[in-house]
Amino acid sequence: MKGVVFGGERTLELMSFPDPTPGPGEVVLEIKASGMCGSDLKFYRASKSGGTASLGLGALAGPVIAGHEPCGVVAALGPGVAERQAPLGARVMVHHYSGCGVCPHCRSGWAQLCREGPIVYGVTGHGAHARFMKVPVSTLVALPDELGFDTGAAISCGTGTAYGALVRMGLSGRDRIAIFGQGPVGLSATQLAAAMGARVLALDVSPERLARAKEFGCEAIVDPGKSDPVAAIKELTHGIGADLALDTSGAPAARLAAVRSAKTWGTVCFVGEGDTVTLDVSRDLLRRQLTLIGSWTFSTVGQAECARFIAERGIAIDRLFTHRWRLEEAEKAYRLFDAQTAGKGVFLM
Ligand SMILES: [Zn+2]
Ligand SMILES: [Zn+2]
Repeated sequence: MKGVVFGGERTLELMSFPDPTPGPGEVVLEIKASGMCGSDLKFYRASKSGGTASLGLGALAGPVIAGHEPCGVVAALGPGVAERQAPLGARVMVHHYSGCGVCPHCRSGWAQLCREGPIVYGVTGHGAHARFMKVPVSTLVALPDELGFDTGAAISCGTGTAYGALVRMGLSGRDRIAIFGQGPVGLSATQLAAAMGARVLALDVSPERLARAKEFGCEAIVDPGKSDPVAAIKELTHGIGADLALDTSGAPAARLAAVRSAKTWGTVCFVGEGDTVTLDVSRDLLRRQLTLIGSWTFSTVGQAECARFIAERGIAIDRLFTHRWRLEEAEKAYRLFDAQTAGKGVFLM
């Protein structure tokens, strides 16, 4: 089979790999949809000598198939996997990490926090930008019948990350939340927060992305390239600040603005990857009793809960996708995604 491999410095290659066969405790999926996530751009843009190490994910040994938003059907079971764990043909998503399986994090569905260090599929282990993918059966999360494979792919990282952050922040229908960055994670957060009854202030420097945030139910939009985002949010909240602020961009200036635009006693959450932030701790945090949360994706249980929420509320997550690609179009697909003005892309197999 062919798989997409990032070569560093905005290059990629469709390389040949043997079709995988499942070992003990493993299954092979036939991939139906494999999403493109904002964090893929970190790897796509990385230097030839490895962007995975810079994100604290360890170094690579040999070419790895990209794609960490896998969704497909069960195609083969390895020894020791019972049919009821993974019925052939079952529609499934993948929680795209595996760990030792015995530490408290693995046992509670948070394999990405494994004490032994996790495998991250699509980053340090073969991912879903290919026809087949081999994973431990413990990584499978059922895809509700109501949801398409493309929606399942989005839930497997970007949309699930947005959901996980909103849950951790304790978002309620009484809140106003400022969401910095309206890429795939930020737009999902806008859709989900609106569905949870909150009012959303959406921020981005791309007019296309702001227009989509409006369609997805935000209360107001702010372009931080044109006006000071902290002042704009204060003005939209009667001088109080937002109850909650979420940064999905990873940009240092946006992180600082998120912290400064939250109200006293407010909660701020960072989900954007990479880079740094400099805060004036006394003025920005202590004097304002802020809660600052770092949030990395979700557990297997959280992923299932997110999918159920989306299915029951009929949230049109598939509208995030502006581009549907064949695997052979990967080069063009990532070149366009790299410009960060379009919506989300997905490979359909
Ligand atoms: Zn573990
Ligand atoms: Zn991701």
